[in-house]
Amino acid sequence: MTMDAAPLDLVVELTSTPRDTAERAALLAEPGFGKVFTDHMATATWTAADGWGGATVRPYGPLTLDPATSFLHYGQAIFEGFKAYRQPDGSVATFRPELNAARFQRSASRLALPELPVDWFVGLADALITTDRDWVPSGGEASLYLRPFMLGTEVALGVKPSGEALFVLIASPAGAYFAGGLKPVTIWLTEEYVRAAPGGTGGAKCAGNYAASLIAQQEAIANGCDQVAFVDAVERRWVEELGGMNLFFVHDDGSIVTPELTGTILEGVTRDALITLAGELGHKVDERRVDVAEWRDGVASGRVAEVFACGTAAVITPVGTLRWRGGEAVTGDGGTGPVTTKLREALLDLQQGRTPDTHGWLHSVC
Ligand SMILES: *Cc1c(COP(=O)(O)O)cnc(C)c1O
Repeated sequence: MTMDAAPLDLVVELTSTPRDTAERAALLAEPGFGKVFTDHMATATWTAADGWGGATVRPYGPLTLDPATSFLHYGQAIFEGFKAYRQPDGSVATFRPELNAARFQRSASRLALPELPVDWFVGLADALITTDRDWVPSGGEASLYLRPFMLGTEVALGVKPSGEALFVLIASPAGAYFAGGLKPVTIWLTEEYVRAAPGGTGGAKCAGNYAASLIAQQEAIANGCDQVAFVDAVERRWVEELGGMNLFFVHDDGSIVTPELTGTILEGVTRDALITLAGELGHKVDERRVDVAEWRDGVASGRVAEVFACGTAAVITPVGTLRWRGGEAVTGDGGTGPVTTKLREALLDLQQGRTPDTHGWLHSVC
């Protein structure tokens, strides 16, 4: 679908019932993840005839949808996730939001939804963050998590690309993803389910991918694990990623490997930043296919010294144990390794403005 060059003509409607300072402080003290939302949200609408319009920051509240709204039936829905960070001088910055905007366009294209112009995506986010800037937490690993999403909203049961779409952006203050500190997770290697097949939607951030991964996540939990890892759909041999995070392997010689992007692996912004940062910290980084046997045997022999998963929400999560039907392998001493810790700190320091932004990755908002 073609890009719409209309300028972002933004309307701001402020809520008449904002939460007061005390209420906000209480909510920010222990926000958890994805449970508390700010006073406003941003929306925009698209029709096949008129393109994008109606960009508005408005009071946070329910959406009213006709029961025959197409995405409720056929799942034409995509999303993104990125964060705004309080900087040491009190200002607020987001991290590479144009990459999320571009990925949102690729996801839209794969799901036959309209592409939201990059300047609309970034502009609406900046406007919402500025309106709700008092909701951006400071200190520790706290941030404001931004969740843009888009739905096909034509009221029609015929199976076809929706002729109308709704873009919504909500914001949620987030504390450290892991209350109680960084604990290595145990990963279940599913042999039953796949996440993504060649030609499918695995490279897009679409709602259905997550729906389809939940049963594998249940399998992981039933086997005493925290998260599930998927292998490729064709040979059932190559390590892909977790349900929502990319994987990295640190070898005993300091070299690092991450599965290459094949179309079935989601192109993480965190993954991309870590490849750059690890290289700058002196690690040789390879993007290539990783045989699941290399993971199993590597941690057993000690050749694979550390394993971690990464994504915007949790930043970096150390992987302690890999478990599969009939066996398990523990990485190192089962704790968090030094390279994992170092990369996690390097990325957080950059995002939170404690080290110079030499890559121009921070986008100053307000
Ligand atoms: C969002 C997502 C990631 C991580 O992407 P980031 O841009 O780093 O947050 C990894 N895998 C899947 C399947 C995802 O949906």
